[in-house]
Amino acid sequence: MVWQSPIAPGISWYQATLPERPTYPALDGSTTADVAVIGGGFTGLQAACQLAEDGVDVVLIDTARFGDGASGRNGGQLGTGQHWWPEEMETKLGEQRSQAFFRVAEDAKSHLLDFARGHKINIDFKPGQLSVAHKEVWNTAFAAMSTLWLNTITIRTCRL
Ligand SMILES: Cc1cc2nc3c(=O)[nH]c(=O)nc-3n(C[C@H](O)[C@H](O)[C@H](O)COP(=O)(O)OP(=O)(O)OC[C@H]3O[C@@H](n4cnc5c(N)ncnc54)[C@H](O)[C@@H]3O)c2cc1C
Repeated sequence: MVWQSPIAPGISWYQATLPERPTYPALDGSTTADVAVIGGGFTGLQAACQLAEDGVDVVLIDTARFGDGASGRNGGQLGTGQHWWPEEMETKLGEQRSQAFFRVAEDAKSHLLDFARGHKINIDFKPGQLSVAHKEVWNTAFAAMSTLWLNTITIRTCRL
C-alpha cells in the first residue's frame, strides 16, 4: 500500500513515479552529534550535506520523511523571480537591496546546478523560463521584469 505522509495532501507526482525511498530509524535517545539539522527538505538536506562534506558530525531529523514537505511537491522550476514584482520590491526595499535579492536568487540557481554537477545527479535541467500573463493588467509588470532581468541579471535573451 502506498504510504500517505501526514504532512502531504495526496500522493505527489514524484512519489508516484519514483521507487520507494529509503527509510531511517526513529531517534531512540542515544544519537549524538555536533549539529542537528531539523527538517529534511531542500534547505535541511543541503545544510546537512554541506556540513557532512566539511567533516562536521551532523544528524538530519524530520518529523515525516525527507522530501515530504514543499520540496517533494514543487513544480521543479528553476526560475528567476521573487514574491514581489521588481517595482514593488524597489518601493519597499530600495533599488540596491531589491537587486541584491535577485542576485542572491541567481547565485542560488548557479549553486544548485554546480551541486548537481559535482554530485553527478541528473536533474534533467532544461534552461529557460516561460512566464505567462493571463491578465492584460500584468503586461506592465512583465515588461518591468524583463527590463530588470536584462539589465541586472545574467539573462541573455528575454522576449515579450
Ligand atoms: C506546490 C508547490 C510548488 C512549488 N514550486 C516551486 C518551483 O517550481 N520552483 C521553486 O523554486 N520553488 C517552488 N516551490 C517552493 C519550494 O518548494 C520551497 O521553497 C522549498 O521546497 C522549501 O524547502 P524547505 O527545505 O525550506 O522546506 P520543506 O521542503 O517544506 O521541508 C521542511 C521539512 O521540515 C520538516 N519539519 C517541519 N517541522 C518539523 C519539526 N518540528 N521537526 C522535524 N521536522 C520538521 C517537514 O516534515 C519537512 O520535511 C513550490 C512549493 C510548493 C508547495
